[in-house]
Amino acid sequence: MSDCLFCKIVSGEIPSHKVYEDDHVVSFLDIHPVKIGHTLVIPKKHSVNLVESSVEDLTHVMTAVKEVMKGLIRTVDAEGFNVTSNIGQSAGQAVFHTHFHVIPRHNGDGLAMWAHKEVTQEELAVLAQRMR
Ligand code: 5GP
Ligand code: ZN
Repeated sequence: MSDCLFCKIVSGEIPSHKVYEDDHVVSFLDIHPVKIGHTLVIPKKHSVNLVESSVEDLTHVMTAVKEVMKGLIRTVDAEGFNVTSNIGQSAGQAVFHTHFHVIPRHNGDGLAMWAHKEVTQEELAVLAQRMR
């Protein structure tokens, strides 16, 4: 994809701070980290998002995510992680090339995640049935 930002990072046309690379995957530091160590892991082959990615590519990506986590434990003493993928504009996806965010966490770092909703057991049961 000639106009894709992350394809240009894969090819080296746009510089990045790469931390891991193999035949299928590249991983590099996020330019606007939510915490120091915030890393992106992407398949080299272009796909728009996780829904469109091949299982094979996702397998390689998740293997690399594990390597990145090990690196963050070693370098920034990560005590935990948020591993997320924003899929679609509604979910906050801004770059339309499949990627996972690997965000190192430390006890008490105060980074807030989503608020939870109250639902009934019946609502959960109906939805689970529909999804199955
Ligand atoms: P999204 O919102 O699509 O899930 O996340 C895209 C991420 O890519 C953002 O966290 C953003 O900071 C990062 N990003 C955007 N442009 C660049 C860039 O040119 N280089 C790097 N390293 N990261 C980028
Ligand atoms: Zn791309």
